[in-house]
Formats: sequence, C-alpha cells, structure tokens
Amino acid sequence: ATWLGVMGGGQLGRMFAHAAQQMGFKVAVLEPALDCPASHAADQLHSADYTDVDALAKLAAQCVAVTTEFENVSAKSLAFLAERTFVAPSSSCVSIAQDRMAEKRFFIECATTSGVFPASHKEINSDADVDAVSDDLLPGILKTVRMGYDGKGQVRVKTRAELHNAYANMNGVACVLEKMLPLAYEISVLAARGADGRAVVYPIAENVHRDGILFTTTVPGPNISKESAEKAQAATLAVIEQLGYVGVLCIEFFVLTDGSLVVNEMAPRPHNSGHYTIDACVTSQFAQQARAMARMPLGDVRQHSPAAMLNILGDIWFEGKSDEAREPAWDKVLALPGANLHLYGKDTARRARKMGHITFVAATLEEAQANLRKACDILGIAP
Ligand code: ATP
Ligand code: MG
Ligand code: MG
Repeated sequence: ATWLGVMGGGQLGRMFAHAAQQMGFKVAVLEPALDCPASHAADQLHSADYTDVDALAKLAAQCVAVTTEFENVSAKSLAFLAERTFVAPSSSCVSIAQDRMAEKRFFIECATTSGVFPASHKEINSDADVDAVSDDLLPGILKTVRMGYDGKGQVRVKTRAELHNAYANMNGVACVLEKMLPLAYEISVLAARGADGRAVVYPIAENVHRDGILFTTTVPGPNISKESAEKAQAATLAVIEQLGYVGVLCIEFFVLTDGSLVVNEMAPRPHNSGHYTIDACVTSQFAQQARAMARMPLGDVRQHSPAAMLNILGDIWFEGKSDEAREPAWDKVLALPGANLHLYGKDTARRARKMGHITFVAATLEEAQANLRKACDILGIAP
C-alpha cells in the first residue's frame, strides 16, 4: 500500500483521509489527541506531539508524502520530515503563512505580478511602536502575528488609547495593526499546484463571517464581477507560482466598497471555504491535496453545481442558554433538497466549536441559498 501522512487530526485531516482512501491510499495521522476527528478515518494514528522526533521519523519512513492540515504545525517538524520524505506544502511555504508579517511582506513582493496588496499595516512590538503609528491606520485591527485563527487574537481599536490598551493585553507577543477597511464582501480563492508546476484555480467563493468565524460560503460568489473574479484568480495563481508551492492553498481577499481587491491572508492547506468542493466540484480540495502529494496529475476543478455551505457550530446543540446538549434535527435538514451533511465526529459540542457543515447543491444558486436558509430556520440559527 502507498501511505500518505498528515500532521494534525482535526476535521481537515479526517476529510483528507476519506478522499485519499477513495483513491486507494492508506492514511497515517500524527496528532496527540487519541479521540481526534481523524482518528476513526485514519488507517493509523500516531499519537504523539507534533515535534516528537521518533514519531516524525516513523511517519516519514511509512509515507511517500506528508502534508499538514493546520498552519501552526512546527516548521521545524516539516523540515525534519522533508529530510526523509516528500513534504507538501514545504516548510518554507508554511512558515510564511504562519507569520502575518512574513505573509504581508511576501504579498508585497508578489504585487508586481499579482496586482494586489495587503491592507496598510504596521508591526507593533513595543509601546513606542504604538506611539509611532500613523493616524491613518486608525480605526484598525490589532492582530497577533502568530497563532491567530477564527478571529482569535484580534482586537478592533478606534483610537490610539484603545490601541495602547489592546496591546497591553497581548502579553508582549508580536502584533500587527491593520487599517480597518470598508469591506463590501469577502471572497476566497482556492488553488492547487502540482509537483510538475501545473496550477489550477477553483471558482470564487464568497464568505460571510460571524464573530470572526466563517458562517457561510456561496459559490459562485454572487456579488463579484467577472473582471474582479479573474483578477483574484490571477493573483492567486501568481502567489502560488512565486511560492513554488505544491498542494492546496487558499487565499482570502477583501472586496472593498469601491470595488478594489485587497489580499488578506493565506492558508497553506485545504480551507473551510473550500468544503463545498466535496459536493459541488469534479475534484474536491482533499482529493486534490492527495493528488499533489502523490505527485499525480491534478484533477478537474470544474464546479458542476451551484453551492451554498453552512458551517455547523456547537452552539446549536444548546437551546437558548441551556447547558444541556441536545442533538439537532438532522432528519429535518436532510429532508431538504440537495443537502449534504458532514459531521466531524466530535463527541462534545461546545459553543463556537466547528462540529460540521452542510453543503446545499441545486440547479440554481438561489435554490441552494433558499435551502440553506430553511436549514438555519430548522436548526435555530439566525439566517
Ligand atoms: P481565519 O479563521 O480565516 O484564519 P483569522 O483569525 O486569521 O481568520 P483574519 O482573516 O485576519 O483572521 O480576520 C478575520 C475577519 O476579520 C476577516 O475575515 C474580516 O471579516 C475581518 N477583518 C480582518 N482584517 C480586517 C481589516 N483590515 N479590515 C476590515 N475587516 C477585517
Ligand atoms: Mg487566518
Ligand atoms: Mg481569515
């Protein structure tokens, strides 16, 4: 058997395992938690810390290629693996995506070919840096340079006084202040590049966030013009090329109220906004990742059905303010046309925890969106 390895056993590792196994691969997961979402999907779980050299050496010896399902994996671990097996994406690509400053510097380096820039920003490492911030960056968002996700490690600040306060609460970790931009809507562009250098790009996904967490993804993005869509896709291909990336990459963009495009951040892995590809595209983002790792030809990215995806957070297990969990009415949701329910096998529902998603496919986007709204109604989610 040919084994593919994944660092991380969350839902992305689980869905990757399903896709890779469909193509006949065996999947090994390295993850400390025994009861992780990927634990039942994987052919083997190496339960160890992500930096455990014995476990890493075993994984590398077992697998023809290893990938990561979370961007905060130690870049050193990926480099260690790369001395022993094929690693995609590379440690250097993942390091850039782990560090908002490195990421922004890279986006700026790419700007001559990509045609897009990140938001105006300034690195903040001291109170003196706060004093030196230009008024033009306020109001802004203070973000930790590392480890932030789902809007965690972010504070919105209106004034310099608020910025001082917010920075004081960051415990001295490296931060970046970004200018608060007038967003019209948000999009993401999923792309993949093979070991042979051939790259593919998926349609534009339009994303709605709530409390910093992805709420819905609609594809094709209903708001974006053809020109902007092509611009975002071309920018994504320029970045993936300049990175020399192998594997699946997702880039988030802002579309501003004046129609201009700003690059936000990238994820060096399959992305929550790309889950719709499982049910609506010829090749899912997870199958694509397996192909890239195995140095096989990439698959067709064509979307065969309009799609609307709803993230399922743990909140809906709790009625009102009750602490007692109850199982949501999946029977009613599954009775809706075009509903594809994906649950990640997490035993404990917690508020804001990603428990699953539902992708609605239909002949028209309007129909898919209407069914998504019905699901919200059934599940008690404000639409
Ligand atoms: P993810 O879970 O996607 O990795 P994250 O925690 O890394 O998220 P960002 O994507 O940087 O955080 O920001 C989260 C959300 O906050 C964005 O999707 C957007 O809605 C809003 N946001 C971030 N930066 C800005 C900005 N400069 N101007 C306006 N809104 C912003
Ligand atoms: Mg992020
Ligand atoms: Mg983001």
